[in-house]
Amino acid sequence: MIKERILLVEDNKSLSKLIAKKMEEKLDVEVIQAYSQRETEDFLEENDDFFIALLDLNLPDAPNGEIVDFILSKGIPSIVLTGNIDENTRETMLQKGVIDYVFKTSMEDINYIFSLIKRVMKNRDIRVMVVDDSSVVRNNIKNILSKFMFKVNVAAHGEEALIYLDDYKDIRLILVDYNMPVIDGLEFTKLVREKYDRSKIGIISMTSSDERFISAKFLKMGANDFLHKPFDEEELICRINNTLENIENINALSKMANYDFLTDVYNRRYFFQKIKEFFKGKNNFALAMIDIDYFKKINDTYGHDVGDIVLKKIAQILKDNTKGSDIVSRFGGEEFCIALKDVNNEAAVRFFSKLRSVIAKEKAVIDNKQISFTASIGVSFRDDKDSIEEILKEADEALYRAKNGGRNRVEIC
Ligand code: GH3
Ligand code: MG
Ligand code: MG
Repeated sequence: MIKERILLVEDNKSLSKLIAKKMEEKLDVEVIQAYSQRETEDFLEENDDFFIALLDLNLPDAPNGEIVDFILSKGIPSIVLTGNIDENTRETMLQKGVIDYVFKTSMEDINYIFSLIKRVMKNRDIRVMVVDDSSVVRNNIKNILSKFMFKVNVAAHGEEALIYLDDYKDIRLILVDYNMPVIDGLEFTKLVREKYDRSKIGIISMTSSDERFISAKFLKMGANDFLHKPFDEEELICRINNTLENIENINALSKMANYDFLTDVYNRRYFFQKIKEFFKGKNNFALAMIDIDYFKKINDTYGHDVGDIVLKKIAQILKDNTKGSDIVSRFGGEEFCIALKDVNNEAAVRFFSKLRSVIAKEKAVIDNKQISFTASIGVSFRDDKDSIEEILKEADEALYRAKNGGRNRVEIC
């Protein structure tokens, strides 16, 4: 894959090299360094495909930020690098449409640059909806969000916003005004929260109303944060970033709690949670215990690290051969469990027989070595059984028979 390119214009060569090196390490991007405006112009003649530019305001041949106008005129989103900035320059730069200005005096400043660029790279996959009956406010916020590379929808009232919410499944954040005709912001927040919780879609409400307790009302209704109008661009962006980072952290934690760290399939605890939900219904399902054959020998021959890679490969095979509605989990060690929903018993047996042969044909390729593996599978069905434990016990017994019967085979309870 071709790496995305960042343009870095900074005449202090050692600083430029430091930033470029760190950036390439941390962000998986290619950094093109230029030390003057002249050099920058030459680079751009050949190729102006940059995702973002970092620009020093004070260059030998462009001492007053001339580089910013030049780069913005090429349509490249820009961040300004500065040793210090006065109030006027800050205002002028933001008005020109740069994303942000960052200092470059300490390591902490430089780390801020990375987190900003990382944030902007992520923003490109995030859709934000702005709901406000004032077209001036809508467009103003839309411009700021677009600059930060968000995908943006604008809605003039609550009903329109609810339609967008159904149509655009990638909306992650809503900025909603309080006073609007028909459905006001509070009512809208309530309606959204009936369907999506705070870690699915963030809501930041905004109002110029000085009604008492209005911010508390919004927060209690489920808004993630609140902005008093008028607000400036920097406050808006900081609050958006905080809300998005909170949501990302919550989702990362729940992923850690529910998934197996090594293989990225569900863990045993989450398997039981999911299958219990399904057991409450009346539908039939099939369960299979899958245990890798002679796995200890793979570890002993190639080492534990290779064993780990083989486990990942097998988990991937299980994922690739099942549907999203099936439950694939690692029970521990080299033992996996799959639940197939809504299948009749014959179809389930056919499925697991096929799966056994797919596993036996696949190989893990590590350092030009091809490692083969097989698995034994024990299958049981819900039928009229009273508990999940009972179904699992039968699958375990079937697995035991598959092992004793010579391995690389499927047994049915
Ligand atoms: P059988 O055909 O009877 O299942 O033999 P086996 O060798 O696969 O089974 P056994 O239970 O004797 O050994 C399983 C091995 O799996 C022992 C353990 O060290 C290894 N193992 C368990 N968890 C991991 C892991 O996360 N990574 C690696 N690399 N090995 C693991
Ligand atoms: Mg085994
Ligand atoms: Mg075992």
